[in-house]
Amino acid sequence: MSVKRIIIDEDAGPCGGVKRVIQLSEKNIAQGYKTASLGPVVHNSNEINRLEILGLEAVDYSEFDRVEQGGDKRRVVIRAHGEAPEVFERAEKLGLEVVDGTCPVVIRSQKFARKYYDRGYQVVVVGKPYHAEVIGIVGHCNHEAKVVHDEADADQLDPDKPTYVLAQTTISEDMFNTMLAAIRKRVKHVVHRNTICAFVSDREDELRIFADEHDVILFVGGRNSSNTNVMHQVCLSANPRSYWIESIDDVELDWFENAESVGISGSASTPQWLLEKVGEELAERLHVEPATQS
Ligand code: SF4
Repeated sequence: MSVKRIIIDEDAGPCGGVKRVIQLSEKNIAQGYKTASLGPVVHNSNEINRLEILGLEAVDYSEFDRVEQGGDKRRVVIRAHGEAPEVFERAEKLGLEVVDGTCPVVIRSQKFARKYYDRGYQVVVVGKPYHAEVIGIVGHCNHEAKVVHDEADADQLDPDKPTYVLAQTTISEDMFNTMLAAIRKRVKHVVHRNTICAFVSDREDELRIFADEHDVILFVGGRNSSNTNVMHQVCLSANPRSYWIESIDDVELDWFENAESVGISGSASTPQWLLEKVGEELAERLHVEPATQS
């Protein structure tokens, strides 16, 4: 059997938050502003390269002061993950115009965290301690919120303090529920809100179905993307022949032995054009008709 069909997942493509920050960046560049983003606006090197060619420069915190030297037409984009309040204050002090690309879903999490912090709760974010969104939420709680990534982290919590638990928007439902149970075992009074983004949770079911419909899945996304990691695991749970790739260069032809249909999907940070490009290049390599939409 050889590959007869290559299908692109038409429900894949960037989430609203990522689309919005990309559009904001493009708009500012088109208006003639020298536009820098604080960190890469999307966890996908192919899309970053495209934006760099348009004129978007990614700077890190240590280079923040340098952005100011671009003169009047210099703007800095805050990415969808958001930032701690002092980052906005620093930009203001440097006289930079900020383009706030924080995703509204993330702003909601920041507000919940701050509300409970102000009420004296121990605020706990379930997620990755070094993820930009988590660092931002912790920053909205005066850097006193705790981060729980595994059971050992839960051991560090104050068992007697009223505790508010929320989630990094891109973790899996399984991870949130497991960590919430671990926290409840250790802490007496816990309230929680599942702040996983609906885009992420809804996608899990759709993706499981898509992965199950094909013999091989190519899941396209950046190695530094938390959402790609979660969604690739979802694919694997439905189809063990699911491969995480960044581009066609990662593909190995022996993955397609005895496969009739290949599904191509991607995470919240993977642009649709990249899925189509991978589909076209794969079709060429496997000598089949170009990819079609599902
Ligand atoms: S995954 Fe959800 S929370 Fe994260 S940027 Fe996209 S829409 Fe916003």
